[in-house]
Amino acid sequence: MNKRQGTSFNFGVKKSRIEGVCDAANSDSSTSSLQSDLQDVQKKGKTTGTQKKKSAFNRKYMDSYLKFGFIQCPDTEQLPRPQCVICATVLGNEAMKPSRLIQHLNIKHSDLVNRSIEFFMRKRDALKIEKEIISQASNTDTSLLTASYLVSLEIAKFYE
Ligand SMILES: [Zn+2]
Repeated sequence: MNKRQGTSFNFGVKKSRIEGVCDAANSDSSTSSLQSDLQDVQKKGKTTGTQKKKSAFNRKYMDSYLKFGFIQCPDTEQLPRPQCVICATVLGNEAMKPSRLIQHLNIKHSDLVNRSIEFFMRKRDALKIEKEIISQASNTDTSLLTASYLVSLEIAKFYE
């Protein structure tokens, strides 16, 4: 028992020392804006409740993003991710905003910046067809097995 108290006491001393160092660092070097932003975010997260914390930062796909050459990547309903219809690159959810999408278009496909939305629609359809062909080709022998597995999975879910 005495031993335990001893270790917790030491830990307490260490912690207060670390805090002291942090305070010193904060006061002499001007606190970076990133750090204060982070604190703001943390505060906001606390006020909106812990359960919604994750979904609060999910960016949603807008149809208008297609004019920047982006669709919502298939199977990313939970956390939507933008996919470029030109090079099929999938970006993170944090990039699901016009400024980031335009940035990709400007850097990777600068020749396509002023293309019409119809052009990107054709590219989107081409990408879809390409994907279907690939999935069909890879599903030839294992399709039955996969189907029965999926059915049993659904049944298992149903009885849960
Ligand atoms: Zn691209």
